[in-house]
Amino acid sequence: MKLYSASTIRELEARHDFHLSKSLGQNFLTDKGIIDQIIEGAEISEDDLVIEIGPGIGVLTVEAAQRAKRVVAVEIDQSLIPILKETLAEFDNVEIVNRDILKTDINALIEEHGEGIKGVKIIGNLPYYITTPIVMKILEDGVRADSIIVMMQKEVADRIKSKPSKKTYGALSVAVQYYCTAEAIVDVPRSVFVPQPNVDSTVLKLIVRPERPVELIDEKIFFETVKGGFGQRRKTLSNALSGVCGMDKTAAAQVLAAAEIDPIRRAETLDLNEFARLANEVAKWKDSKK
Ligand code: SAM
Repeated sequence: MKLYSASTIRELEARHDFHLSKSLGQNFLTDKGIIDQIIEGAEISEDDLVIEIGPGIGVLTVEAAQRAKRVVAVEIDQSLIPILKETLAEFDNVEIVNRDILKTDINALIEEHGEGIKGVKIIGNLPYYITTPIVMKILEDGVRADSIIVMMQKEVADRIKSKPSKKTYGALSVAVQYYCTAEAIVDVPRSVFVPQPNVDSTVLKLIVRPERPVELIDEKIFFETVKGGFGQRRKTLSNALSGVCGMDKTAAAQVLAAAEIDPIRRAETLDLNEFARLANEVAKWKDSKK
């Protein structure tokens, strides 16, 4: 059965009395070329464990199962489970887990299914409504994955891979790029999904950095500084930072001077190294107040 087609989706819907859910971000992929690009981008080898987020009816899962040692597919929608059991029936290396990915301990899944595996790849055509929380969860939980190849709304992908001084550069860019490198594999038009969403998509490849790119005194203060800086992105840093980590305007001016950053600059002009320098001065200031 050719899974990636509108008629198959309709046929499965009718036979299993399944109804596509808008609120679960169910926009199913029907383009084999894009499926291939996601799978090739993931560079799955026969020693790999693949964790798939939101398998839907299994268009990516069948391709991953043919290449990987094992595939664990996490799907929240219980009504898709009988469909997945049918479409993946020929594979004995696929585990379907009926769970919310945001409430799943992914490292525990890897541990549980990781016997004899060498690499871990995360793939998925992510539900739009929780793309950012899923990506941040994977990164903040320190999930033991080598790469993450995921399709998402183009605007979110643009923000994730953005560089300083661009309109799309913000706290999400700095946060994701702290953990990994980000590269767009392909832009995807809305016309290849059933049903068609209101936005275009991008397949993004995130490669987890083996080591953090900057040295931080306190990771939490770093993220608070980044968030605070961008909280009022039109303001100069000296204004945007007052109120962050308990600093008043004088303290903000003090830490900016110590970090050798011009106080009239805006957060959107700072690169990762400058944010790290600034956050380390905030940490030192905070420590001096104890
Ligand atoms: N992979 C399929 C494809 O490309 O055709 C489906 C992708 S669809 C955009 C997103 C999938 O994620 C749906 O199957 C949806 O039910 C599932 N999903 C939504 N929220 C989820 C969550 N919190 N945890 C796990 N799966 C979720």
